[in-house]
Amino acid sequence: MTETKPYWQNYIDGEWVDGGSGRIDVINPGTGEKLAEQALANAADVDRAVQAAKRVHLSGELSGLRPVERGRMVRKMGEYLLEHRDEIARVLTLEQGKPLWEAELEISGCARYMEYYGNQAETVEGRSIPLGDSYFDFTVHEPRGVSAQIIPWNYPMEMTARSLSAALATGNTVVIKTPEMTPLTNAWYAHAAEAVGLPKGAVNILCGLGHEAGAALSAHPGVDQIVFTGSVQTGIAIASAAAQNVVPCILELGGKSAAIVHEDADLDAFERDVRWGIYFNAGQVCSAMSRVIAHESIHDELLERISGIARSLSVGPGIERTEFGANMGAMVSEGQRDRAEGMVQQALSEGANLVAGGRKLNLPGAFLEPTVLGNVTPDMTIAREEVFGPVLSVLKFRSDEEAIAISNGTPFGLVGGIFTRDLQRATQAAQRIRAGQIYVNEWYAGGVETPFGGYGQSGYGREKGREALWNYVQTKNIAIKLG
Ligand code: NAD
Repeated sequence: MTETKPYWQNYIDGEWVDGGSGRIDVINPGTGEKLAEQALANAADVDRAVQAAKRVHLSGELSGLRPVERGRMVRKMGEYLLEHRDEIARVLTLEQGKPLWEAELEISGCARYMEYYGNQAETVEGRSIPLGDSYFDFTVHEPRGVSAQIIPWNYPMEMTARSLSAALATGNTVVIKTPEMTPLTNAWYAHAAEAVGLPKGAVNILCGLGHEAGAALSAHPGVDQIVFTGSVQTGIAIASAAAQNVVPCILELGGKSAAIVHEDADLDAFERDVRWGIYFNAGQVCSAMSRVIAHESIHDELLERISGIARSLSVGPGIERTEFGANMGAMVSEGQRDRAEGMVQQALSEGANLVAGGRKLNLPGAFLEPTVLGNVTPDMTIAREEVFGPVLSVLKFRSDEEAIAISNGTPFGLVGGIFTRDLQRATQAAQRIRAGQIYVNEWYAGGVETPFGGYGQSGYGREKGREALWNYVQTKNIAIKLG
């Protein structure tokens, strides 16, 4: 336990505190060894955090500020993260397993969210509605109040940045429930909040077990809005708890997203998309390219190229992988790795072929080889269920109709991709794929500015872009009778 400080506390109402439920061990998935201990909050801790956030909200200390002031604070939080990028990235790699260069990118991504939503703070304006000479009518957008944010382990810093920046920019206060496996790095948001002068209690950060602290937070009557990213099952539990208090949720629940590759696609460019699409963060990305649907005329060549990419990646401890390149780190835990490996075995038993990878590495830590499965058909479990690991399934299509039917053939609908030089074909497919974001000729095309969220079991509500702002405010209409 020498790589970082041995014990990390929760941050409630501006104080660093122990947890009512003791501590949890945080494991370094790059070595399988204990990295540190993290305080675990219980329901009483959650209650104190919500009360603190409520107090600050009702005081108007944040909501009453001129938006430019809030925007500046949010932007400065991002600058604070950038100033501490190296130390945060190290801990992120140690707790999550990703290569150090990916961790650095994640921290830069957090600062980008803070910049974007800091800049948006001043753009949230109401409108005036004409009602004739006898009235003056206008709308205002008010913050909802206490935003509860339940964070997943795959991008613990970036997922917090996404919701925290928009919530603060619009004048809300926040309680963040960090993930049990990767709770450490979120502590820097507390340091950032203090550094920029946010009032005590405006940002509260606690770790706790999902069924304990997470459930207590999502059922708390003082919470005014909930943001959740994670599994479908947990999303349903959270939305059910929120419904009891008539509180709105944003749910972002993963996917089984497909790239349709036509015979006229630029296959050299597509190879780069595969590298990012499924092996970035060891495939633990909700919008990962977990399926490739290849036209039969290029299917064999594409399979060959994709497996070449998979085999070219050097896999090992993220802390040693400091530079962008052909490398991949550990998965978040041995449990997640074994689950992914089990899904590969099941796919083979259902008739898929192992074209690359598929095995655990003979190393301590949570490593799985970059994996490619061929001969996958739409009815197989691997084609329908999220692996959340570095496992790509390749399917074959003959007609455009069939490709779109396969793409739409899962309960999910987070993102979809079309790779072709034919603009008409791409546009038609973009209209027919049921997903919240469509990538044409580049996986992950878009940015913080572009709205993101799911169709179907991928969830509801939109994060990113200006669309996300409306999740954090409610509209009030004020009608004044004149004379
Ligand atoms: P999870 O949904 O159980 O956990 C995500 C967060 O929810 C954690 O902070 C957890 O503590 C909390 N949580 C768990 N149960 C809760 C409850 N009853 N009430 C309130 N909060 C609760 O996800 P997981 O178990 O860590 O991973 C399981 C699967 O979820 C993964 O294999 C993957 O498929 C999916 N997942 C998706 C994403 C994504 O970005 N869409 C992220 C992480 C996990």
